[in-house]
Amino acid sequence: MSRVLDSDLKYALGTRAIHAGQRPDPTSGAIMTPIYQTSTYAQDALGINRGYEYARGKNPTREALERNIASLEGGVHGFAYSSGMGCLDSIMKLFKSGDRIVCTNNLYGGTPRLFDRILVNFGLKFTYVDTRNLQDIEDAMAGGDVRGLMIETPTNPLMWLTDIAGAAEIAKRHEVILIVDNTFASPVLQRPLELGADIVYHSTTKYLNGHSDMIGGCAVVRDDNLATRMQFILNSAGAVPGPFDAWLVLRGTKTLHLRMAAHDVNGRRVAAWLADRYGAERVAYPGLPSHPQHELAKKQMKGFGGMVSVETGSRNAAAKLMNGLKVFTIAESLGGVESLVNHPASMTHASVPEERRRDLGISEGLVRFSVGVEDGDDLLADLEHALTG
Ligand code: PLP
Repeated sequence: MSRVLDSDLKYALGTRAIHAGQRPDPTSGAIMTPIYQTSTYAQDALGINRGYEYARGKNPTREALERNIASLEGGVHGFAYSSGMGCLDSIMKLFKSGDRIVCTNNLYGGTPRLFDRILVNFGLKFTYVDTRNLQDIEDAMAGGDVRGLMIETPTNPLMWLTDIAGAAEIAKRHEVILIVDNTFASPVLQRPLELGADIVYHSTTKYLNGHSDMIGGCAVVRDDNLATRMQFILNSAGAVPGPFDAWLVLRGTKTLHLRMAAHDVNGRRVAAWLADRYGAERVAYPGLPSHPQHELAKKQMKGFGGMVSVETGSRNAAAKLMNGLKVFTIAESLGGVESLVNHPASMTHASVPEERRRDLGISEGLVRFSVGVEDGDDLLADLEHALTG
């Protein structure tokens, strides 16, 4: 656990992205945080150490990242993990057998896999509701034993939004912990803690790292007691990142504000192009005025980002579009500088049972784009060629 310094917070986000949590190395003056590739730390004498004992508990490279991300999210305590799922698994360890967690029904496919195939075996209970509708959340609270509310917004891959402030109000009233997966937006575009969430988490594999060269996760909280419990779980269960991976994310966050601005510009252009070719009603992008929650997006987000989905109509149409692309690469994952294209039904959401996929609208024709920061004209030309070529 690393606590953000008050002095970090007086600067704007773009300045904090580059500096928060980092100081020149005291021994050499090195500008970049060193990669402390060590498992343990020498103690000065029996019972006397310099605050570090064993690297599962604390590592200075990891601490710099934790402070940096805590600062970006407007939080107080940051935690870094070995993956987004490792992070979520650790968060779920805050609960105990018999507790119920109410969740968004459209989540990254690995999330319900963790909940329904692993954590249910330890007595946790999950209720999936359409959290776009606050009344559905309210109704689910009556289910009994509810201790957590977990939302993803925008969702992967349907780009549904949940009103974070509205969900936070319900969570507070029912005294449940509100957890928000902020992976798609990043703290540049959306800061759930400022809207009342208790825990915000990320797959840092995505935008925070931004270069598709590591797997990681992070969580940020404001409350000291919650932080103490999270640190206890992190150290006890041990889903910590290695220092090199922590360093890669730390290098990524230095350009997060610049990359997100570029993703946003290209995302809007790709969404508009898809709306023109396929019809706006088939394109899921919160920045389009046709998105049913566009007003909410404008209220709680500071931009709309680079994630766009389109309903092409059939698996064949999806395959033709995807196979014809040259600049976009067919791949799982998202949030890197390079543009990727994904078929949720057979890739990221293949683990979601077919019936649930169908109910949600994750069809065989759905294609999801992670729009990168290449030249926007090249991206549109690539799409045009794939569709018509
Ligand atoms: N949350 C979202 C929204 C994701 O898209 C993903 C991965 O795609 C995860 C969580 C899981 O993160 P990781 O792959 O780093 O374990």
